[in-house]
Amino acid sequence: MKAVHTELHRSHDPQFFLVRGLVKRTTEQPERVDRLLKGLRDGKHQLVEPTKFGQGPRARIHSPEYLSFLSEAWEAWTALGDSGPEMIGNIHPVRHAATYPTHIVGKLGWHTADTAAPIGPGTWAAACAATDVAVTAAQMVMDGEDATYALCRPPGHHAYRDMAGGFCFLNNSAIAAAHLRQKHERVVILDVDVHHGNGTQGIFYARPDVYTISIHADPVAYYPFVWGYAHEHGEGPGLGTNLNIPLAIGTGDDGYMQALDVARKAIESFAPSALVVALGLDASEHDPLKGLAVTTPGFRRIGQAIAKMGLPTVFVQEGGYLSDILGANLTSVLAGFEEAR
Ligand code: ZN
Repeated sequence: MKAVHTELHRSHDPQFFLVRGLVKRTTEQPERVDRLLKGLRDGKHQLVEPTKFGQGPRARIHSPEYLSFLSEAWEAWTALGDSGPEMIGNIHPVRHAATYPTHIVGKLGWHTADTAAPIGPGTWAAACAATDVAVTAAQMVMDGEDATYALCRPPGHHAYRDMAGGFCFLNNSAIAAAHLRQKHERVVILDVDVHHGNGTQGIFYARPDVYTISIHADPVAYYPFVWGYAHEHGEGPGLGTNLNIPLAIGTGDDGYMQALDVARKAIESFAPSALVVALGLDASEHDPLKGLAVTTPGFRRIGQAIAKMGLPTVFVQEGGYLSDILGANLTSVLAGFEEAR
């Protein structure tokens, strides 16, 4: 399996992370990619540089106001003068009878769901590079590759049509799925990150052509807390094409595989012709964000089960934070996929 990667992610190096009122260094660090690259080298995956697809694929998913905001945010922020080293919102409007603001501080609040997506000088460039990585991987599958892997950073699955959040700015998985839709009538996004893919769910909630499935730690006790419940099924024409499978905190390999089997059956009945896997590796037993307890051999089983779904597949990197086995878990899931194909 070929892997798409660029070093351009490095311009995004956020520092601020607010956890239960404590300010900490964010876990979404550039070093994640170094460890994931080691996993790709250990798996003997050929690395491919992304093609520049530009704004078109991003504009299929994100609103014009949001893309303008992200592209101009840093310049407007620094022009304020008395502002911090990273953009963190201090208002979060609920948008009831609200007016779209003209001031950068207002826009920042409007376009962020939480404080976990600080914007720095190189955030826009890195986020754009990540969408090129995802679209390149999708295009390769459209051109005949059986499966590809996109090493995206920053991740994307918490980003909505017009809101950043949870380390995410542009929704790489959603953008890959929308790109695949040019060729494939029905596409599934299977999100195996430990966190619910709330942004992806929000983007496709009313759409019947992209089935969003997320297996994650139960939001009763875990981020994002207010989305990710089993009763969220979609709305309007998208009713029935959203499936959430929350798992009890600490669920291990066997419980995870049972959830994946529920997802498999749902995918079979939807009968798609392409699959995007939102590949978080933070369900690992050793991930610092401790939610689930999947082992390295467990990730191999996950890769095998996904392969047996029999669909052209684009893996898009989502979460997965610094632990000694982050790279090994990537090697494991991709090896499992390849050996079962
Ligand atoms: Zn995650």
